[in-house]
Amino acid sequence: MVERRDGKIWVDGLTTQFTGQSLSSLDLIESERDHPTRPVLPDLWVVKVGGQSIMDRGASAVNPIVEQIVAARKAGQQILVGTGGGTRARHAYAIGLDLGMPTAMLARIGGSVPVQNARMLQMMTAKDGGIMCYPDDFEKLPLYLQLGTLPIMSGMPPFEFWEKAPEIGRIPANRTDAGVYLIAEFFGAKGVLFVKDEDGLYTDDPKKNTNATFIPEIAARELLDGGQDDLVVERAVLEYLERAKSVKEIRVLNGLVDGNVTRALRGENVGTVIRASTA
Ligand code: ADP
Ligand code: MG
Repeated sequence: MVERRDGKIWVDGLTTQFTGQSLSSLDLIESERDHPTRPVLPDLWVVKVGGQSIMDRGASAVNPIVEQIVAARKAGQQILVGTGGGTRARHAYAIGLDLGMPTAMLARIGGSVPVQNARMLQMMTAKDGGIMCYPDDFEKLPLYLQLGTLPIMSGMPPFEFWEKAPEIGRIPANRTDAGVYLIAEFFGAKGVLFVKDEDGLYTDDPKKNTNATFIPEIAARELLDGGQDDLVVERAVLEYLERAKSVKEIRVLNGLVDGNVTRALRGENVGTVIRASTA
């Protein structure tokens, strides 16, 4: 039965705590604070292969990493690979900025290069089960994993026209680190690894500052508030970590050190761990 109550439409049997609510009430949002999240694929490792840091270095950097990922997959680990864009994406951003493109268009343009990198990794691993994985395929991921495939996706989140303006400037804040992290959080993954070309996080970019010192572990909040000029992962990832329901830490490691990916996938302590301050 449909009736009007408090000027709103009520349908018998459809009454919940949200009936008649705008969903914007701060009290209502607060009341949902501790609603638990069900992990979707809790045995899944999400592994980002860096664009600038790894792919742009070519075979000498990429081959050993691919070998370690394939070996771990064959040994039964569930793995989803995400790719970065790297130098070609930076070139596209620079030209797009110069031509006055809005953030959303930069995000759209920036999405093309990580797909190229994902396609190359897919071809390299095809004989070992490498398949391209697009957002529409995520609901079939359990099947793909059961079949023993190695799904490979672009790290770029598909926000495109919906990419929000950053606080300052126009460079999209959500790039491939953010995209890989967010999909790991969605899946409630076992862990997320950022395979790059430094041992982890330092107090400054070690390529530019030889006095930079290594940070083995740190809270995302501390990094966000610390005023450090440059970081090994996108700042957006730190913000999302602090809001995480499932994946409350990330690991950044040096893929140029052979064996590091294997060790990290075994749960060993390599690289830097960045945690939610609540974790
Ligand atoms: P990817 O290609 O994986 O996205 P990026 O090149 O975007 O990697 O980011 C990794 C790079 O960040 C490192 O190679 C390093 O030179 C740089 N970097 C900047 N600040 C830091 C820092 N505080 N600690 C470690 N690396 C840093
Ligand atoms: Mg990057």
